[in-house]
Amino acid sequence: MAERVIPLVDQRALALVPPLPLGALEPASGELTDHWQRPLRDLRISVTDRCNFRCSYCMPKEVFDTQYRYLPHSALLSFEEITRLAQLFLQHGVQKIRLTGGEPLLRKGLEKLVAQLAQLHTTEGRKPELTLTTNGSLLARKASVLKAAGLDRVTISLDSLDDAIFRRMNDVDFPVAEVLAGIDAAQAAGLQRIKVNMVVKRGTNDHEIVRMAQHFRGSGITLRFIEYMDVGATNGWRMDQVVPSTEVIARLQAALPLVPLAAQAPGETAKRWGWADAQGRHDPALGEIGVISSVTEAFCGACNRARLSMEGRLYLCLFASQGWDLRSLLRSTASDAQLSTAIAHIWQGRSDRYSELRASLPADTSDGQARRIEMSYIGG
Ligand code: SAM
Ligand code: SF4
Ligand code: SF4
Repeated sequence: MAERVIPLVDQRALALVPPLPLGALEPASGELTDHWQRPLRDLRISVTDRCNFRCSYCMPKEVFDTQYRYLPHSALLSFEEITRLAQLFLQHGVQKIRLTGGEPLLRKGLEKLVAQLAQLHTTEGRKPELTLTTNGSLLARKASVLKAAGLDRVTISLDSLDDAIFRRMNDVDFPVAEVLAGIDAAQAAGLQRIKVNMVVKRGTNDHEIVRMAQHFRGSGITLRFIEYMDVGATNGWRMDQVVPSTEVIARLQAALPLVPLAAQAPGETAKRWGWADAQGRHDPALGEIGVISSVTEAFCGACNRARLSMEGRLYLCLFASQGWDLRSLLRSTASDAQLSTAIAHIWQGRSDRYSELRASLPADTSDGQARRIEMSYIGG
């Protein structure tokens, strides 16, 4: 069946404006929880809405074309504004900050932001864990300067090792060799616990599952297979294009032995599997893989992630249609204490659990889908 691309209904104009707290202000306790008692631990900051790729599942060329209006620079949060907000989120219990996009390495001087964030502290007095999700195209040039600025980890998106398929999937004819060079540069720079994310789309790259696994087995890099998700409104998502994680594992196990591994942290999105030795035990030298079953197995129960868009909207779920406009407060006379209380009120009111509810939604989700914000706007 031919790909279906859905025209974009611009959701960016829709924003919820948080009231400026005027009464009693609440000092951050570091233990903020939402309606379902989920803590706030992970902050994903999208630093740009631009990208040099046009992956059809994220920014299809037909929609994100030369007519598409990206945000003007003045609309983006400055590095100082991002750092101010990040500090307030850390005081509410955030431990990890992930920079994303669009393509985050397109934001000029990103290493300056990394250096500023590296000066901040968690409630335990530690430097927050700083990580980045990138398409890898500019990583060969940037890995060492980012590491020197204080970046701890990096996740690179790579959907295929086959150059022709990779060029088709990024839809800008970008060669896979340059992304592989970026991954090598990240390793050489000393970035830790490097991950590679592969979005698996049936009929497009699913025949690459075993080859990708073999390539990264024993390399020190963790490959994670992501179920193609119904995020945004433009990618024309269909359930029959999703390869369930159970099928990914079965295909891998038919080729190479894998054993399940225990979760390392609460709220972890990926289920871990270790490569086994001849005795069927996990061999740490061979490493592990992960599967992220966002479609077939909801993990909303432990979801501790908040997402901040490049223009300062706070999104409480990947599938949200509206975000909270923190920039309006940032650019007002609001004090840190007022901003912090506003963030607390927003998180306390959070009840989102889209993936858990997806199963009970009507089969044709096009109506609901048309209202969702794009992945390239709030990052992964
Ligand atoms: N440009 C960067 C990159 O590609 O790594 C960061 C932003 S991108 C939106 C973040 C992650 O979202 C990528 O790993 C990408 O593969 C994933 N992603 C985008 N659209 C997706 C979809 N429809 N289903 C599953 N993952 C998706
Ligand atoms: Fe760009 Fe990343 Fe989206 Fe691909 S997935 S279009 S690289 S933002
Ligand atoms: Fe979290 Fe929303 Fe994803 Fe559920 S659907 S895991 S609440 S981001």
